[in-house]
Amino acid sequence: EEKSSDTVDYPVDKLLYGLLTADFDESSCLSRYQSASYRKERQQKPPSYLISRLRSYEALHKRCGPYTESYNKTVEQLKSGHHSSTTDCSYVVWISFSGLGNRILTLASAFLYALLTNRVLLVDPGVDMTDLFCEPFPEVSWFLPADFPLKSQFASFDQKNPSCYGKMLKHNNFTNQDNFKLPPYLYVHLVHDYDFHDKLFFCDQDQNLLQKMPWLIMKTDNYFIPSLFLIPTFDHELSKLFPNKDLVFHFLGRYLFHPTNKVWGLITRYYKSYLANADERIGIQIRVFDVGTGPFQHVLDQILACAIKENLLPEISNEEAIISPSGTSKSKAVLMTSLSSGYFEKIRDMYWEHPTVTGDVIGIYQPSHEEYQQTHKQMHNQKALAEMYLLSLTDVLITSSWSTFGYVAQSLGGLRPWILYKPENAKAPDPPCRRAMSMEPCFHAPPFYDCKAKKGIDTGALVPHVRHCEDMSWGLKLV
Ligand code: GDP
Repeated sequence: EEKSSDTVDYPVDKLLYGLLTADFDESSCLSRYQSASYRKERQQKPPSYLISRLRSYEALHKRCGPYTESYNKTVEQLKSGHHSSTTDCSYVVWISFSGLGNRILTLASAFLYALLTNRVLLVDPGVDMTDLFCEPFPEVSWFLPADFPLKSQFASFDQKNPSCYGKMLKHNNFTNQDNFKLPPYLYVHLVHDYDFHDKLFFCDQDQNLLQKMPWLIMKTDNYFIPSLFLIPTFDHELSKLFPNKDLVFHFLGRYLFHPTNKVWGLITRYYKSYLANADERIGIQIRVFDVGTGPFQHVLDQILACAIKENLLPEISNEEAIISPSGTSKSKAVLMTSLSSGYFEKIRDMYWEHPTVTGDVIGIYQPSHEEYQQTHKQMHNQKALAEMYLLSLTDVLITSSWSTFGYVAQSLGGLRPWILYKPENAKAPDPPCRRAMSMEPCFHAPPFYDCKAKKGIDTGALVPHVRHCEDMSWGLKLV
């Protein structure tokens, strides 16, 4: 039943061709079964093996999730402070950390890691996760209970923590790999500042040891899936789960991330008001990492140069009127997202004050301008999620380099974006943008180590499906 041709428009299927289970009450999370009707399905159907592994994960989660008998038992063992390798269920606990785009990517990474290692994923709700996302697994919650014994220590988990796996390796704590010497849990530090020892997480022999731990606590701000594809233990299973490597986050993201009804309201009201009726929808995601307050002329120049050169938007004309044969002019709705409103206002005015050479009518829309990143404000991140999601509903997408916000939009949407190169020295780069090789996110801080030979290696040159990213030369992405 799997089609091998690359791009087919499928009719709407609310379960996304088996990716989603039908075991949920529809009204508790409208986005789960409604999202299909907002999207053009451009991609292949999910692989049947992935579907069967997701169903068996759901069964595992139901058996081992919060407050099940197995969970209670394993928590008791954790409290006792002794290592036990005979627990029913083992877990990976994801700590809520970093910006929303980063969190979405790391949560998908932790879930895939759980799937590969037969662990149960538990999600630290942080300050806003429950306001943003519905439960993805039927019956038993994915959220870590508030009374989880290590909860109060989450803030202190870092490279210096005595339970940090990398730190323990540094002090040779595992030379005698006797079970009695193993701790009851380990913290794995996969944050961008991680060091040589932390990065040994990506080695086979380390995975063997980690496999013995009933509890792994993980903190990361990186999409580390590309490097999982380079670990021999996981390699075979991964190629069965994802015959097409370009679609890893696409499927995981659509499986896991269903906006809550509150956020879904933000998404659908905006979509219906400004985007639904256009002939074509164009997303432009602007994320400026330069210091100083914009808008910057060179960024504006770059956005327009990219959109016009790549034929995504028409040029404006200095004529007073353009007469195009009736019925040939199209309406294009441009959804812009940015922390500031400057770029949006300039582009909107440009297309209002002048006709386009094609006669096409261009509407420019931007839902919010929050000015700066406000990690702990509730509505702020609800809007951020709504905007990532709205971008994913467009037909063509322009994104900014280095931004996980853009990665989430492109991958969820099944879109291979045009990436705006990162400006250097306040100048618009030439060419302004390039088409991405794949829709996958970039792993910004991958290890460059050959675990067997014990020496440095270019991990972007080992296999054809793991390459260096377009927007970050040292990053890795699946293609
Ligand atoms: P990254 O920093 O671009 O990789 O993306 P993250 O999502 O991890 O962190 C940036 C945060 O800044 C987001 O989570 C939002 O809170 C905020 N932000 C950045 N760009 C936008 C935007 O275009 N719209 C909104 N609403 N928020 C944004």
